[in-house]
Amino acid sequence: MFEPDLSMFSLVGKTALVTGANTGLGQGICVAFAQAGANVIGVARRSCAETAEKIAAFSGSFKEVIADLSDSGVIPHIVEEAEKAFGRVDILVNNAGIIKRCDAVDVTEEDWDAVIDLNERMVFFLSQTFAKKWIADGKGGKIINIASMLSYQGGIRVPAYTSSKSAVLGLTRALANEWASHNINVNAIAPGYMATNNTSNLRSDDQRSAEILGRIPAGRWGTPADVAGAAVFLASDAAAYVHGFTIAVDGGWLAR
Ligand code: NAD
Repeated sequence: MFEPDLSMFSLVGKTALVTGANTGLGQGICVAFAQAGANVIGVARRSCAETAEKIAAFSGSFKEVIADLSDSGVIPHIVEEAEKAFGRVDILVNNAGIIKRCDAVDVTEEDWDAVIDLNERMVFFLSQTFAKKWIADGKGGKIINIASMLSYQGGIRVPAYTSSKSAVLGLTRALANEWASHNINVNAIAPGYMATNNTSNLRSDDQRSAEILGRIPAGRWGTPADVAGAAVFLASDAAAYVHGFTIAVDGGWLAR
């Protein structure tokens, strides 16, 4: 019988670092990477016990690093812990992100900075940290940024979030242009409306929830498992010639 060769999608022998690994999309990506054979380092502010448990269920390889990513001063600690656990990091997923819903006229500088620092500034400096290492050792690597529908659209009452996620799409292109020749693939995933903490306020607002659902061609909210395929693909050898692109995983939202 014909046996398909899926080895180009395998992450066996690779180490992946995923930020925001304790819940939601980051947790889904950690589980998918471990299922594809990677050693996974989950970075989060809070315990990743649930993620660790899901991965232990199939004897996958996972290590958590607790760090508050609102301050880039934590980067050396994260790198040290990651390398101590598994050696060279090959894949970086910039997933941690926050959203603050508020009328634009009421946004405070504090909230603006909190969103931009985590969703945009940290994405750049973590990427820079690993790219420096990958350029120095000549072995390349993969960066996957988590963008959003608000990388393409304006959104409602989330101006800092929209700014940060629009920046993520631009940064993905900008870094790909500089680093593709070093065998570093920088790409992004733009999730549509997914059932995670990030959208709990929207989903508990009956009117907004119905408006959103009615506009999603797939007719349902997405789940962390829905981003798994795109994440594994972009992290794998199968994506070797994919650079600077943002893949929407949105149930058809952008096609409307
Ligand atoms: P979530 O709120 O469940 O997850 C956010 C993650 O970021 C958590 O793991 C949290 O611990 C982590 N985080 C937040 N602040 C942090 C900090 N200071 N230091 C370290 N970690 C921190 O929501 P989610 O939907 O899983 O979000 C993951 C990513 O996906 C975010 O970048 C979000 O903007 C993006 N996204 C989500 C949706 C959606 O509909 N849920 C859509 C598009 C994009």
